Amino acid sequence: MNGTLDLHFDMAAMVIMVIILIMLSAKKNIPLRRSSVYITMCVVQVVVIICSMCLQTRLYMSDHTDKFCYMFSDLYFTLDYLCALLFMYYLVLLSGKSIRGNLKACIMFVLPFIAYAVLVVDNLIHHNLYTIVFGYGFVGTKQLGIISLVALYAMLFGICYAIRYIDAVSYGKLTAIAVGSVGVIVGIAIQYRMGGVFFINFVVAVAILLLYELAQNPSNILDVNTQVLNRNIMDELLKMDIEDKKSFDLIVLAMDDFKVVNKTYGIEMGDIMLRQVADYLSTVSKRGKVFRYGSDQFAVELRHEKRGKNAEEELRRALENIKERFRHPWIYEEESVHLSATTVCVNYPGDGDSLENLVEVLDYSVMYAKRQGRGSVVFTENVDLHAMRKEKAIEKAVEEAINNDTIEVHYQPIYNTEKQCYTSAEALVRMRDERLGNISPEIFIPIAERTGKIVRLGTIVFEKVCKFMHEQNIANSTIEYIEVNVSVVQCMREDFVDTILSIMDRYDIRPDQINLEITETAEISELNILQENVERLHSEGISFSLDDYGSGYSTLGYIHQFPFNIIKLDKLMVWDAFETERAGTTLKYTVGMIKELNMHIVAEGVETEQQQQRLSTLGCDYLQGWYYSKAVPPEKFAELIRKAG
Ligand code: C2E
Ligand code: CA
Ligand code: CA
Repeated sequence: MNGTLDLHFDMAAMVIMVIILIMLSAKKNIPLRRSSVYITMCVVQVVVIICSMCLQTRLYMSDHTDKFCYMFSDLYFTLDYLCALLFMYYLVLLSGKSIRGNLKACIMFVLPFIAYAVLVVDNLIHHNLYTIVFGYGFVGTKQLGIISLVALYAMLFGICYAIRYIDAVSYGKLTAIAVGSVGVIVGIAIQYRMGGVFFINFVVAVAILLLYELAQNPSNILDVNTQVLNRNIMDELLKMDIEDKKSFDLIVLAMDDFKVVNKTYGIEMGDIMLRQVADYLSTVSKRGKVFRYGSDQFAVELRHEKRGKNAEEELRRALENIKERFRHPWIYEEESVHLSATTVCVNYPGDGDSLENLVEVLDYSVMYAKRQGRGSVVFTENVDLHAMRKEKAIEKAVEEAINNDTIEVHYQPIYNTEKQCYTSAEALVRMRDERLGNISPEIFIPIAERTGKIVRLGTIVFEKVCKFMHEQNIANSTIEYIEVNVSVVQCMREDFVDTILSIMDRYDIRPDQINLEITETAEISELNILQENVERLHSEGISFSLDDYGSGYSTLGYIHQFPFNIIKLDKLMVWDAFETERAGTTLKYTVGMIKELNMHIVAEGVETEQQQQRLSTLGCDYLQGWYYSKAVPPEKFAELIRKAG
């Protein structure tokens, strides 16, 4: 490689490097080994440029080459090629896949370091990499060609290694890094073939800048509001610890009812509170790393050299500190806010051998802890992980049933006491799994609600109902409408109304042929949307039933808030009425009250002759239960209404 020296390129390179160093020092750094390698690379490059500049100045100033010229040149070449090796190391670290345990890769990784060391030491003794030609610059020897090949090999190995373990790095980033590296390689090749002005330092500085933007920019890893590490980098860091078999505890802090804080004090104040919590958590443990785990959740990682008494003590102290802090209010200007957080602790390797498993256990434990009440602290020992696995299996079964289109809808006829025939029916979803057998909707619906799968599932059920009504020409039977259960999770979606109306439109179903059943629940987070959706569908002519009245959550408020046409008395309430006198009286007055409010009544769970007689006498408009029929498959139901008709 030949090159005449030119200060302009070096000066431009220096400006770029100074900018990078300023950016690096201005922000929190990524706490990863690759960051240290990156910073080392930057510093090495700065020294390389300084050497290059010193050499040129020296050559300009004197009229012969002296020992300083050789000193600067030696340092220059030594560090310049070191940069290529550091770049290889950087890419290996960026891949997220540890090289340890892979002997072949280890050898391929170490070889260039050995070759480099031999060539550099040899040069320091024999000065055989280059000769300085006064008034021109320097001329490379064969030896320089060899060390260049070593550098080229190192860069290519780094790129190939990163590509091989692509899943750890995002594809776009890697492509850009590969393009950048190829740019540097092409630059070196041009310099090598053509000589001319020495511009390689500039090319390398641009490549380092590119790397900063793509992989090292701290804003990519920091949460915008709280400035703690974000979820992406958390996953990357934990994966690395798991690769290195480093044990750690993970404390997850899930804020309780943070929506209420946002609603009461405003989003801006909510953000300030989260910032305060994040700042506080950063002080909980000197070595602990804090991450934003979810929108209102933080995680603190406590890494241990060894699992033992010290680790336990550190965890205990951290938890105690956190608990104590949350006893006191969080203060901003005149406002003082009491916050509460649910805490969950998991550890690696105890609770899972991969990040996916850990996160699974963590999310389930958070859900479990939330059910224990505000401010509870939960360790995985307290959590039924067997139930979690079962739940996961059911979640998978729901997904498979949706994808394989094996969801079925059965129909349970509803008896009209006035007309003395079936005038409606309830659609009930059915699911069968090869391994788990028949799964009750009572089990899989709540799981589908938690995982959000209920949205697709609900749409599928509704479509099947409409299709069935269309194909069986239900309008020509005694069945006036079909009752379809919808979850509030579905009803709270912005697109709910459009989904329902477009399906009905597709199958020519009139609004008065559909009745939607909703159950009162505590899980309503978007009451406005829910109310708006119900109002819109109601104004289209679709009627609504309040399901399971008299069980669990029912309050009268709900009846006033929504335009229900029908109240469905829960089967437990019905059964109780036949057990005790008090419950009988309650039922009697409940029926009276609902009639007064001009709504119709369905009594559920009618199993006996005696029940059906008394409920009719009491004034229930509709009766539903096994006394009449269980929920039956569509063909059977079609036959049943044909016969009844
Ligand atoms: P639900 O809406 O209260 O449905 C009535 C449940 O009581 C049904 O159970 C039905 O089979 C059962 N049942 C009816 N008559 C009798 C009787 O005389 N005696 C007894 N012991 N039970 C009777 P199923 O089908 O297991 O459904 C359970 C729950 O799952 C439903 O309760 C409903 O909350 C939910 N569900 C069912 N299908 C759907 C659906 O398509 N979407 C949604 N979101 N939820 C559904
Ligand atoms: Ca129902
Ligand atoms: Ca019910």
